[in-house]
Amino acid sequence: MCGIVGYVGKDAALDYLVDGLARLEYRGYDSAGVAVLQNGKINIRKKKGRLETLEASLNGLPRGITGVGHTRWATHGKPSDRNAHPHTDCSGRFAVVHNGIIENYLSLKEWLQSEGHTFRSETDTEVIPHLIEHYYQGDLEEAVRQVRDKLEGSYALVVISAEEPGKLVTVRQESPLVVGLGQGENYVASDIPALLPYTRQVLILDDGEMASVSPGGVRISDRAGREVKKEVFEVPWDAVMAEKQGYEHFMLKEIHEQPKAIRETMRGRVRDAEVVLDELGLDTGQLANIRRIYAVACGTAYHAGLVGKYLIEKMARVPVEADLASEFRYRDLLVDEGTLMLVISQSGETADTLAALREGKKRGARVVAITNVVGSSVAREADDVIYTWAGPEIAVASTKAYTTQLVCLALFAAYLAQARGTVGKEDLGDFLEELTRLPEKAQEILDREEAIKRFAKKCARWEDTFFIGRGLDYAVALEGQLKLKEISYIHAEAYAAGELKHGTLALIVEGVPVVAVATQPGLFEKMVSNITEVKARGAEVIAVTGENGPEMGKYVDHVIPIPQTHPMLTAPLAVIPLQLLAYHTAVERGCDVDKPRNLAKSVTVE
Ligand code: GLU
Repeated sequence: MCGIVGYVGKDAALDYLVDGLARLEYRGYDSAGVAVLQNGKINIRKKKGRLETLEASLNGLPRGITGVGHTRWATHGKPSDRNAHPHTDCSGRFAVVHNGIIENYLSLKEWLQSEGHTFRSETDTEVIPHLIEHYYQGDLEEAVRQVRDKLEGSYALVVISAEEPGKLVTVRQESPLVVGLGQGENYVASDIPALLPYTRQVLILDDGEMASVSPGGVRISDRAGREVKKEVFEVPWDAVMAEKQGYEHFMLKEIHEQPKAIRETMRGRVRDAEVVLDELGLDTGQLANIRRIYAVACGTAYHAGLVGKYLIEKMARVPVEADLASEFRYRDLLVDEGTLMLVISQSGETADTLAALREGKKRGARVVAITNVVGSSVAREADDVIYTWAGPEIAVASTKAYTTQLVCLALFAAYLAQARGTVGKEDLGDFLEELTRLPEKAQEILDREEAIKRFAKKCARWEDTFFIGRGLDYAVALEGQLKLKEISYIHAEAYAAGELKHGTLALIVEGVPVVAVATQPGLFEKMVSNITEVKARGAEVIAVTGENGPEMGKYVDHVIPIPQTHPMLTAPLAVIPLQLLAYHTAVERGCDVDKPRNLAKSVTVE
């Protein structure tokens, strides 16, 4: 999920590795490491923390003719020197850096251990060097090919071997990787910014492809081993654009990364129409005994908690209270042994959330955290953690962290329902089937971005806006209004649609924009009534809706359609047009989208 660099050529590997990693620093990481090959020996240094810490440990390391480097964003095993990449086999002849997740690492690890291999880290990655050691018979490419066939999951891998100096073997599967072409030296990187000062000529690998890179050439082959001829891509971007992969802002890049982030977060967790959450230490008896859940968080994560409330109550039949962390800790909490706290935080360092977690624990609640950062304070202090595997999120306004929180909550709701027997096998199967189709449906929405962008030109003139919805759609409306106000500074408020008439309707006058989220089939008629109420006062209504789009078109000014899905899974889709609308509106208004005024990414003050 983070940075990879690789070099083969003259005696300068280390220089490129260190510089290349520094150029990927903007992505965020928790540890870093390098392996350089010189005189038939692989030398490794790896350190938790900043690159400077790694650099300070490089004394005495040869510059190397071949080498790999990595900045890690931990998914399996806490950030530590030991878990940092590169990882090696038992003999130290192979070094591997890896981005992504190996889904089947546990069974591979057990098998390798039974074959006598000794593991030194908690990572999923470490199975790879040991597998290579197992299969290696004098041809690195062939060994990596055999290993690839054993791996399930997502990976960009780069492998070097003391047996074959002057060679890198690299494979890509659902995690980016490019080869940079030099003169008598060649480069590998997960992202183009690492390469820019060295070369602008790159070969972009596709899924399933493998490249064998030597100083004089690059050989690319497909999954079946057939050679692939690639066109050289001449990078047109400057360094700043390259960091954002050509997107104008990190926020837009992260909005577009959602199909992948959602897919990653589901990785290995849905199998044969069942949810597998091996990371939870709660047994069936404990799950059956949960009588009350508090979903506690701040900001966007709180809005995710609200979605969780609807999902868990509906599917697992446990009462859930979604609560703001800054309020929760000052209440006289009702906690007993049947109470579970779900704590949600992208960074895992949100001060309010952490304080609420501590208060809940003190009173005896069992805490399950949902966070994006392995080893964060929330992750360390919770009893169990379900990680969102969204990768680093840089823009202050959260997008992919939110949608992956929703996926974790959907998985948790289904898991709980499964254990408590509150949903029939067939219904659960349908729900999970639709869950696994979310990435492609999210992509469908992103493919229609242009229409939203055009519409945003008009929204840039808005001053006061209202977002309405019922049930799950109310939770989405809350997130939609927050996105709009935090980055475009337009005043926005969200209401449960039925509440307007109890006061706020007084503010609806000619031309006031109202965004109505109406994806719930069972609540469609009621939403239409609320929409008619605001239309009668002159509101301009924009509806985000699913299968009822054509019907809805009769009542509103604009329809933004989303693909049809399970009614309990509309939130991660319905929010995407609202994110895009907020983004393009903010850009139209000339706002600093990635760093909105007065706001910080990780709020570590109470
Ligand atoms: N899953 C691997 C780990 O936790 C790779 C993480 C990454 O992509 O940085 O070490």
